[in-house]
Amino acid sequence: MSNFDEITKVLQENNNFLITSHINLDGDGIGSELALYFILKKLHKKAIILNQNRLPKLYDFLPDSDKVHYLEDNCINPKNIDVVIALDCSNIKRIGKTYEIFKNIKTIINIDHHKSNENYGSLNYVDSSASSVGEIIYELINFIDSDLLDDKISTCLFTAIITDTGSFRYSNVSSKTFEIASHLTCHRIKPHLIANNIYNRNTYSGLKLLGEALLTLEINESGCVSWLTITRKMLNDTNANDEEIEGIIDIATTLNNVEISILFRETKDNKIKVSFRSKGNFDVNKFAGKFKGGGHPNAAGCLCSGKLDEIKENVLSELFGDIKYLGYEN
Ligand code: 5GP
Ligand code: MN
Repeated sequence: MSNFDEITKVLQENNNFLITSHINLDGDGIGSELALYFILKKLHKKAIILNQNRLPKLYDFLPDSDKVHYLEDNCINPKNIDVVIALDCSNIKRIGKTYEIFKNIKTIINIDHHKSNENYGSLNYVDSSASSVGEIIYELINFIDSDLLDDKISTCLFTAIITDTGSFRYSNVSSKTFEIASHLTCHRIKPHLIANNIYNRNTYSGLKLLGEALLTLEINESGCVSWLTITRKMLNDTNANDEEIEGIIDIATTLNNVEISILFRETKDNKIKVSFRSKGNFDVNKFAGKFKGGGHPNAAGCLCSGKLDEIKENVLSELFGDIKYLGYEN
């Protein structure tokens, strides 16, 4: 694995950077991208953020969020890029179509916290003990020069950390996570305002969709697995968009005695996205791997082709087999 010394050298010796993250951008992806963008600007470098998809509205409160580009902007000339930095992407597929733009660029810095990372970069920094890539970027900034940290960067890193830890509730939280969050709070950020922006700006259509989704809630006989389903019809009927699905699976996870929760949803391009969450020791990253997906031990996903009912049946019967084998039903 590369170290901060090597990464810092590449940052110092080059001038034009492209920063990217994964499809279905989340708080860790965008928070880490913007934090690194601000650092590069402070180091007098040219940096551009490019993701496959448009920034979810949820993150429009972040500083300079209007400067985040997406593929259809057509704003990138690969000839003008020296270095690509991919954040929070365990493999090239997760980068999405953006990869086509820079696949011929030699220097790719891969910074991630997924255990399953495939080390696709020319430099790879993967720390699966970090709660979020935000935590790693914080450490990288401290390594380069701790005076670089300011309120804008702290807001982005705090967002990355709270979203990837479920507001400090997941098992990926360590004493280091709290130390970093505490240090970020010294930089005039207001954690409650960040939390309000992320959690208290639901839309009417989003809450209606949540209501529809909850009507589909099912549990297995022993009550340790719960699942929800969201169809295109439900999105159409409630006037909600795909971004508003974010967070709905977490409600299914709150059920007492539930160890594993699942959300099955139809995507715009006729695929079925399956999200998994685990409250205990069941490793959903490993389980999602059976369907060519991945993620973390407590939060993972996969994308399947086929009919919704058939995929539900396949995934659930595979899961019921596993939990029986592992003794969850006793
Ligand atoms: P979500 O269910 O919120 O989309 O994703 C939860 C976690 O699973 C994220 O950390 C993400 O990296 C991972 N994940 C989601 N979908 C996929 C997928 O199709 N493939 C892989 N490798 N990881 C995924
Ligand atoms: Mn992450």
